Amino acid sequence: MDKTYSPTLVYHPALATGLTVDPTGAIRPGTKKTSVRWIIIHEAGNSSVNAGADNHLLYLKNLTASNLATYNMNKRLGKTGNALYDGLKYISFNYFVQGNIKGQSNTGKVYNIIPDEEIAWCNTDGTTPGGGNMCGISIEIADSVSYDMEDGYRRAIELVAYLLNKHGLDRSAIKAHRDFYPVKTCPYQLLTNNRFDWFKDQCIAKYNEVYKGVTTPGEKPKEESKDTPLQTYKVGDEVTITGRIYASAWKAGNSIEVKDKKFKITEIIAYNNPTAPYKLGSVGYVDSATIAGSNNAIWVPSVGDKVSVTGNVYASAWKAGNYYTVKDKQLAITGIITANNPTAPYRVGAIGYVEKDSLKKV
Ligand SMILES: [Zn+2]
Repeated sequence: MDKTYSPTLVYHPALATGLTVDPTGAIRPGTKKTSVRWIIIHEAGNSSVNAGADNHLLYLKNLTASNLATYNMNKRLGKTGNALYDGLKYISFNYFVQGNIKGQSNTGKVYNIIPDEEIAWCNTDGTTPGGGNMCGISIEIADSVSYDMEDGYRRAIELVAYLLNKHGLDRSAIKAHRDFYPVKTCPYQLLTNNRFDWFKDQCIAKYNEVYKGVTTPGEKPKEESKDTPLQTYKVGDEVTITGRIYASAWKAGNSIEVKDKKFKITEIIAYNNPTAPYKLGSVGYVDSATIAGSNNAIWVPSVGDKVSVTGNVYASAWKAGNYYTVKDKQLAITGIITANNPTAPYRVGAIGYVEKDSLKKV
């Protein structure tokens, strides 16, 4: 048995010319994960001819170039943190795996595009603590008609075994994109053909074959994670809602704010990328962060609360007009605008209005 085995990670020449070395590039924000907890499997969802590893690299490279202008403009406007990337389509992935070109051996590829410890935005769960983007290594498998899918799976299985060993993870860390965003059937073929358990079994078998009993040199003992456990929800679940309920699954139209109210999930909207996919009967729609236990949601700001503000403070509750950026500024909520769907409804004295994401209770 070859104890030194590891998958062939091909570093594409493009990576040395700005694709990963530029931490300001749209596809590599350079943000560190809070921890590495998940290995998340995707299929690229692109069956076109030649939609393989090189085409996807090219796609990322063009994405970087076309979005750099937006990034530079945001920088000139003084935006910081996540706001700096507003308007950027910064989708990316840590690894891209492609099977052999059909009928040609040794033509498969595994590209490491973004370092394991950095965020690649492709799990559709935003900045959910403990979630896919914040704590997962994302692997895209090419599902183009040009490539041998089974060979792609084989390479992905080798890669997962390698990552399990590298990061001291176990079977429970292997996840589907769908585990973090229930409305997206990804990896499509593995899930619809009921092969995701098979895939996980193969990863563990490969791990046991190659790495069992092997300690990676320099490996640190695994620390207990401080992140909140991941939670997902399904139709029929009774949930406690604290936060905003919307008239539409895309947060359009009216909304109301509730605190510690119990509802039942009656439907999960699965098309057109809803931002609030969970339907609560006739009451409306919520996002996962609003469901108690999914953590951002425990606190509803109210007038009189002392807060620490980090982010933009706007001249208007609709983010119109001037704004400026503050960090850890201690203020109090002096009013909450409820009419006409304000995007920054919390008034912090005379200095202006902020959105909830900028507030922390002190
Ligand atoms: Zn996916």
